[in-house]
Amino acid sequence: MKYLGAHVSASGGVENAPLNAAAIGARSFALFTKNQRQWVAKPLDMESIRKFREHCEKYHYKPFQILPHDSYLINLGHPEKEPLEKSRAAFLDEMQRCEQLGLDRLNFHPGSHLNKIDEEGCLRLIAESVNIALDKTKGVAAVIENTAGQGTNLGHTFEQIRFIIDHVEDKSRVGVCIDTAHAFAAGYDLKSTKGYESTFSDFGSIVGFSYLKGMHINDSKKELGTRVDRHDQIGDGTIGKDVFVRLMNDSRFDDIPLILETPDENRWKREIEFLYGSVKK
Ligand SMILES: [Zn+2]
Ligand SMILES: [Zn+2]
Repeated sequence: MKYLGAHVSASGGVENAPLNAAAIGARSFALFTKNQRQWVAKPLDMESIRKFREHCEKYHYKPFQILPHDSYLINLGHPEKEPLEKSRAAFLDEMQRCEQLGLDRLNFHPGSHLNKIDEEGCLRLIAESVNIALDKTKGVAAVIENTAGQGTNLGHTFEQIRFIIDHVEDKSRVGVCIDTAHAFAAGYDLKSTKGYESTFSDFGSIVGFSYLKGMHINDSKKELGTRVDRHDQIGDGTIGKDVFVRLMNDSRFDDIPLILETPDENRWKREIEFLYGSVKK
């Protein structure tokens, strides 16, 4: 079964996210549990938590259909002590918010070395950051998102993601989210049939599908290997809609949240209808 949805707004309170998802026919959704561009946020209030759970139940969203995304400010591989600690504290807060909401996974961007340490040193810091957060929480998995490799962002190769997983102590609480636009921009040729097959067979052998806890379903404004992160609507970009139709008919992507992060939210409902319509019976 495919669980396709979108990264919906939680403006006015997290309890609005499941309502926004249901309104566009989403069977999964992503959300920010706090303002993603601010370091500190006030704690979730009990009423918001209660309503969130109530709305999820009403519209049949179970934890495995929900993929919260952490703040863009966090860099778990920051080479300097103070900003690293700030990032770790903010990440722990995000994990705890997920715990409070009864969610089982949190999607994050691994981190950036900022040309101040080598890649391996940065990947080790990221794994250590994950270990610290997992130690202090229960039931929430840290889900590593592959990146486009823009700037000094790591996590743009399956090998880097594997390295982080290898250094996380509790393997039952670490996962991966593949963003199709990021993968394409990072140099994985999803577009050709051969490239699609080899990309996902490489993912299977290097990382393993048992770690796949979600996908971000985005077309790309940028060409293969440009390492620039610009999402486009399904079918409008350089990847093209055929790839997404193939993905919707590929059982390796069953039973995980498949999240649209395409720029025009007014088109999400139609994108969801189109993609569900492409599933071969
Ligand atoms: Zn992301
Ligand atoms: Zn993404």
